[in-house]
Amino acid sequence: MRVKRHRNDAKGRALAALAAALLAAGCGSGGESADSDPGAGRFDAQRAFADLEAQVGIGPRPAGSAASKRTAQFIARSLREAGARRVRIQRPHRNVVAEIPGSGPGVVVVGAHHDTQDGIPGFVGANDGASGVAVVLELARHLAAEAPLPGRSVHLVLFDAEEARGQRAFTEDGMRGSRQYVRYAQAGGRQGAPPLERIEAMVLFDMVGDCDLQVPREANSDPYLYLAFAEAAEEISGSPAPFEGEAGSVLDDHIPFIEAGVPSVDLIDFTYGPGEVPGEWWHTPEDNLEHVCAESLEAVGEAAALAIPRLP
Ligand SMILES: [Zn+2]
Repeated sequence: MRVKRHRNDAKGRALAALAAALLAAGCGSGGESADSDPGAGRFDAQRAFADLEAQVGIGPRPAGSAASKRTAQFIARSLREAGARRVRIQRPHRNVVAEIPGSGPGVVVVGAHHDTQDGIPGFVGANDGASGVAVVLELARHLAAEAPLPGRSVHLVLFDAEEARGQRAFTEDGMRGSRQYVRYAQAGGRQGAPPLERIEAMVLFDMVGDCDLQVPREANSDPYLYLAFAEAAEEISGSPAPFEGEAGSVLDDHIPFIEAGVPSVDLIDFTYGPGEVPGEWWHTPEDNLEHVCAESLEAVGEAAALAIPRLP
């Protein structure tokens, strides 16, 4: 991903106020009592962390590499074992796609990227992007066990080729896998992508493993989709954390969906390590197992398991 700019303007503040007001009103909550502990047992953070470690164990995984191919195969195998349907690896970019059927016609796309930035010796991407993949795989296990889902189907996609190659500009060369997926959707639903007109929302996880996790609303992201995660977190723990605050905009795999007219949310903590955004550990060998935590995967995953089946 690439940080585009900060935004702390009036519009951002107005959206924050709107989100706070809706949250205070309990808008759209599921009506379960606090005693029922609605998040319990939905998301196995240790199993998710094992998936993160498995990816890191493969080593650097840049798009087009033998390690990337092995990663895609690991993801496809994990999705099949989870009980997801119609698992396949797209071409030419190796997006791994799968489906969890719902009873309605609509689709929510849930994704993360599996490639790592090239050209950085020793870069294993524990956070960027193994953490997002780990959350999506564990969500797949949880959601597949509940299938058919009561509303929309969930289409899972683990994107290849999110990162730009070498020194190329992210706007020109990043997001190649997600652009491919959207192209296949626009072509009526090729290679496991649903037809674009069925996609009603897109949820992206990226850099959600930071032990010091904060996931403010990314400025391109739909405020109502974001709010659903804050509400779910509040139901589970009594606090919307880590889904609090407003942040600048980030270019990431949700952008091609937004450009195609799909409301999307990028759940990303783009302050990783000391210093200013994006933090000193981003795109360095410090993005390793010492700086990611199962508790962070759990905070995001538990909320997502509750929020995704009932997104606005
Ligand atoms: Zn990156």
